[in-house]
Amino acid sequence: MIQKDVVIIGGGAAGFFAAINISEQKPNLKVTLLERGKEGLAKVKVSGGGRCNVTHAEFIPQDLIQNYPRGEKELLGPFHQFMTGDTIEWFANRGVELKIEDDGRMFPVSNSSQTIIDCFLNEADKYGVEVLYNHAVKNIERTKDAFKIETSQGEFLAEKILVATGSNPKIWNLLERLGHSIAQPVPSLFTFNIIDERINDIPGVVAKNVEVKVLGTNLWSEGPLLITHWGLSAPSILKLSAFGALELAERNYKFEIEINFIKMTFKDCLDTLKALKQDLAKKTVFKSTQYDIPKRLWHKLVLASNMTMETRWADLNKLQLETLASQLTQAVFQVDGKSTFKEEFVTAGGVNLKEINFKTFESRIVKHLYFAGEVLNIDAVTGGFNFQNAWTGAYIAAKSILNSE
Ligand SMILES: Cc1cc2nc3c(=O)[nH]c(=O)nc-3n(C[C@H](O)[C@H](O)[C@H](O)COP(=O)(O)OP(=O)(O)OC[C@H]3O[C@@H](n4cnc5c(N)ncnc54)[C@H](O)[C@@H]3O)c2cc1C
Repeated sequence: MIQKDVVIIGGGAAGFFAAINISEQKPNLKVTLLERGKEGLAKVKVSGGGRCNVTHAEFIPQDLIQNYPRGEKELLGPFHQFMTGDTIEWFANRGVELKIEDDGRMFPVSNSSQTIIDCFLNEADKYGVEVLYNHAVKNIERTKDAFKIETSQGEFLAEKILVATGSNPKIWNLLERLGHSIAQPVPSLFTFNIIDERINDIPGVVAKNVEVKVLGTNLWSEGPLLITHWGLSAPSILKLSAFGALELAERNYKFEIEINFIKMTFKDCLDTLKALKQDLAKKTVFKSTQYDIPKRLWHKLVLASNMTMETRWADLNKLQLETLASQLTQAVFQVDGKSTFKEEFVTAGGVNLKEINFKTFESRIVKHLYFAGEVLNIDAVTGGFNFQNAWTGAYIAAKSILNSE
């Protein structure tokens, strides 16, 4: 059996970040990182479409936490210890500059996730972190004063361990045996499948700012909306998928949404349509796009309102005006299933947050057992927030491991 001071289980974002922070402070500690794959950092590699959306330009903890459907309350304290500004500085100190895009997402200036991977591998090497690939952890046992970790390639003993295995059911089972409870995993960050003539054949169309409600729930969101080959995507939908992860899973991903494409009330919209009926009397409705909505979407909504391509504004009857106002401000769509959002997807669920001390990221149940990243029941909307959770947890866990007796 090989004796170590600290064993980190999982060579992903959180595992590497913690290992580096520990070894940098105390290079003579024996820190070993166990990774089941033949390489680590696989998700970092594919993240953000290969560009790695490292964090988000949101610098107020109270605002930052709003992006976490699970973990909102718990992360407030940790973000006062280490958050986005610290992430930017951490990488800058190691030669990795991050840039901010218009929507607040932050990426390495190189636009390549490999920059982040290279940084981690170089730092781990520099400070002597022992990284063991092809070491899948099979069992964790708490002995009197250490942890016995059984892997596919032998056993290790460690005084302190950090579990950073992401969303991994096998490890959650092991943690249950150590006394932890696990919030049932369900997918988060997905797009909605919809078959509907109003969005058929117009993939790529973006409505810049819509409001979406899930009927029969309190779920609603606003933001850009993208029409895809399969249905709807973009932040307005992804936010709903994250905040509604549990509720939508319970409904087996079959539910109705109501979209307000122009963020106007039905009545105000109807009034403006009545005015347009006068002003544009001789023009066809089809060809006179209004409200700054994309032309192809306007065409679809007009045709869905009992009109033809030739109908003129002057000819509109009350029902047609009301139907168009309704299509613009309260269009109901039937969602039937979900699809993966390829840029970023995460799992809601994981180690119950009540069982964690968020000042240290140590288990409240098992002393010297620490957690960071997605293994916990924390997840965020898209935009770099999921990695920020990994960096924050890993940084604080590393500090606590160094400071604890
Ligand atoms: C396609 C995609 C793109 C994404 N893009 C972004 C993005 O741009 N920005 C963002 O903020 N978030 C993004 N995310 C989410 C983000 O990747 C995760 O939230 C983050 O990687 C979680 O880090 P982690 O270290 O907790 O877990 P992971 O990165 O999943 O790492 C866990 C590691 O543990 C290892 N492991 C698991 N079980 C064992 C075991 N038994 N023994 C040994 N090792 C084990 C795994 O092999 C893995 O290497 C994306 C996710 C996906 C899937």
